[in-house]
Amino acid sequence: MLTAHRLSKRFGATVALSDIDLEVEAGETVSVLGPSGSGKSTLLRVISGLEVPDAGSVLWNHADVTLLPAHARQFGLMFQDYALFPHRDVAGNVGFGLRMAGGSASEVEHRVAEVLELVGLSGMERRRINQLSGGEAQRVALARTLAPAPRLVMLDEPLGSLDRSLRERLIVELGEIFERVDSTVLYVTHDQEEAFTIADRVAVLRDGKLIQAATPEDLWAAPAGVFVSDFLGFSNRFAATAIDGQADLGWATVPVDVPDGPCQVVLRPDALIADETGKITVTVAGSVFRGDHYLARTTTESGSQLSISTPTRPHPGQRIRIRLDPAGILALTE
Ligand code: ADP
Repeated sequence: MLTAHRLSKRFGATVALSDIDLEVEAGETVSVLGPSGSGKSTLLRVISGLEVPDAGSVLWNHADVTLLPAHARQFGLMFQDYALFPHRDVAGNVGFGLRMAGGSASEVEHRVAEVLELVGLSGMERRRINQLSGGEAQRVALARTLAPAPRLVMLDEPLGSLDRSLRERLIVELGEIFERVDSTVLYVTHDQEEAFTIADRVAVLRDGKLIQAATPEDLWAAPAGVFVSDFLGFSNRFAATAIDGQADLGWATVPVDVPDGPCQVVLRPDALIADETGKITVTVAGSVFRGDHYLARTTTESGSQLSISTPTRPHPGQRIRIRLDPAGILALTE
């Protein structure tokens, strides 16, 4: 089990990490999610031993490894650019760490074949690095990271440079690979969908602070505040005042589970249901195609903007009747 205990790190006036507490259980995949500059890479670098924290400690199974050199931690770190050696072939790259650790030629060869099989690249030992596709290079980098059987696998935006369809496929494969070898994984990304696909738990960072660490289901059900809610892509958010468990949005009064006073009401996509008998009427301003649905920008009768999902493309000016499902309504106070 990895424990990050009250980790802090500054670069001059920049606070990159502030009092971070985070645990990754054996066999668990935790995703560190946050926008650019939130401290994700710094957290990985401190945990991996490439950076020394100003305060706090890194523990593995309760033993303090904060000052242990990176190579002695038995942690594997895969960088976004893969950092493959261009002048070596696939086997030369994948077996690099094993040879450094003193493995015999036959041991290295056997393990290289094993991890290439794991990542779906059996028989690719002699392929040159510059002859690999983006997805293959990503798998070679993963195989190299997994080859020494690290007790913690860390990945920093491992799919960042690949196109969307490849990313969507590889993220599922990555999850399956981690499951097969029962890896303990820390996975850094700025992409909420990626984090939700791969992680057992997601840790949301903002300005070096850990805002919320929870399962994807719990984050979805109860984001800790406006920042997390916005980051999850919940675009329908309204400033309101809670009075006796209700908030008036100007075009609808909704139940809210917060004390009286100012709050932000978030209508998750599942809160808005097209229903011909619904009491709320919105007018379509425009729409975008989202593959399995359309996202319509609409205006309520009181002039509020509301995005709603529709199965067919609505035309501008069209009026749609909706109702609200209380299960998808969140009230946030911070
Ligand atoms: P992320 O990975 O979420 O994009 P980083 O951990 O790279 O965030 O950076 C967090 C903050 O620390 C940023 O403001 C960044 O500019 C700063 N930072 C990171 N590394 C250094 C460094 N070596 N020197 C100075 N500032 C740094």
